[in-house]
Amino acid sequence: MSAKIKGYGAGAARLLADVLWPPRCALCRTAVDAAHTLCGECFGTLHFIAAPQCRCCGLPFSHAPAGELLCGECAATPPPYDCARAALLYDDASRPLVTRLKYGDQPQLALLLARWMRLAGHAALEGAEAIVPVPLHWRRMLARRYNQSLMLARELGTLSGLPVRPEWLVRRKATTPQVGLSRAQRRRNVAAAFAVPQSSLPLVKGKRLVLVDDVMTSGATLQACTRVLRRAGAAEIRVLTLARRAQVD
Ligand SMILES: [Zn+2]
Ligand SMILES: [Zn+2]
Repeated sequence: MSAKIKGYGAGAARLLADVLWPPRCALCRTAVDAAHTLCGECFGTLHFIAAPQCRCCGLPFSHAPAGELLCGECAATPPPYDCARAALLYDDASRPLVTRLKYGDQPQLALLLARWMRLAGHAALEGAEAIVPVPLHWRRMLARRYNQSLMLARELGTLSGLPVRPEWLVRRKATTPQVGLSRAQRRRNVAAAFAVPQSSLPLVKGKRLVLVDDVMTSGATLQACTRVLRRAGAAEIRVLTLARRAQVD
């Protein structure tokens, strides 16, 4: 079948689908004009992150600080990644989007969310050489099929033209329980949960990478992944998530 006929077929199928199943808001399911979008009311509840923000971790400021745009946390303890950006604040409004993405009941949702991430992460994607999703925890992998980070990474890859390399960072199975460990031990323990496979080491070396996840909460997972990629020789690690907490723990 030629590309032209194939394209026509897809368009006709979409038209038919729109008649049979009119597009609905990804959150409240009311009818909307275009597929894979939100209604005006739901969209209005979301808190998109915009400048002014910390130039390192992307934390939004209510007022632009005088001088350097660096939050107190990054000034005191610089995070291991080069920068972090997120499209949304992680709050009551954005939480249902993250949950739906996790359970994969709306596979098309990832495209909508990746579009927002691309806008928010413009600087992080600029000049990057590959996108690496945070690997799914093996226990969760057993419980469900969807890796939300990989879904977002794939859509971002299509939108940005960057290759997506889930094979560059993997989750190891055995992790010691965190209970009773010091902060430093906990950090080492989390880092030990991730690895760059031997076969990927030469490919990771010297690369500018965009590390993708759905949410940044404490930042511990993203920091651990960053350290592992850095140890493998990555030149730059920029973090891009759909949402992030308004405050860093
Ligand atoms: Zn809605
Ligand atoms: Zn910061």
